[in-house]
Amino acid sequence: MSKGQVFIISGPSGSGKDTVLKLLLNKYPEIKFSISSVTRPMRVGEVEGEKYNFISKEKFQEMINNNDLLEYNEFVGNFYGTPKKPVENAINNGEDIIVEIDVNGAAQIRKKIPEAVSIFIMPPSLELLKCRLNGRGTETPEVVEKRLLEALSEIKRAEEYDYIVVNDLLDEAVQGIASIIVSERLRLSRQYGLINEILG
Ligand code: 5GP
Repeated sequence: MSKGQVFIISGPSGSGKDTVLKLLLNKYPEIKFSISSVTRPMRVGEVEGEKYNFISKEKFQEMINNNDLLEYNEFVGNFYGTPKKPVENAINNGEDIIVEIDVNGAAQIRKKIPEAVSIFIMPPSLELLKCRLNGRGTETPEVVEKRLLEALSEIKRAEEYDYIVVNDLLDEAVQGIASIIVSERLRLSRQYGLINEILG
């Protein structure tokens, strides 16, 4: 059995990556999604265990000490991390897994899993990004400002990624990521089993 593939997906706050990912995962229910551990408060509409496990700073520190995290980073005053086990399990079970993380986390995973494929979701313009961040209404103006600054520095690091998908038209963005996933599945490195099977 060939190993599962890790797809790193990043994009600044306000790039619309959550919506893109939701549609993508509906379309490809066999793809696993890595649930991050986070110390930030839950936003209205968020559900525990869906995208995040909301935990205390003490619990997060415990996970760091126990080497339970594949990567972690501080983002606008809160800690975000990827639990190691689910990613390792997916790889070993031949399942693809999406890890949605920031640029610093992405750099850490690339070092540990060099064959991970990384995709950056880009907003079509800065104006639209500002509009989306302000329109959310879930954060204070100070936090929105910090997220905007963070977004600018993330966009500057987009060239570290294998692919860039612009999220202008939602369906096209979803299709773009789906095409990357399908192409990666067709790589020779994932088809050795098939060759042997056909040759008997
Ligand atoms: P938000 O607070 O808007 O949900 O997420 C803020 C940022 O943290 C986003 O850029 C998101 O991609 C990133 N993020 C979410 N989970 C993780 C994680 O497990 N590790 C890292 N490094 N970043 C994460």
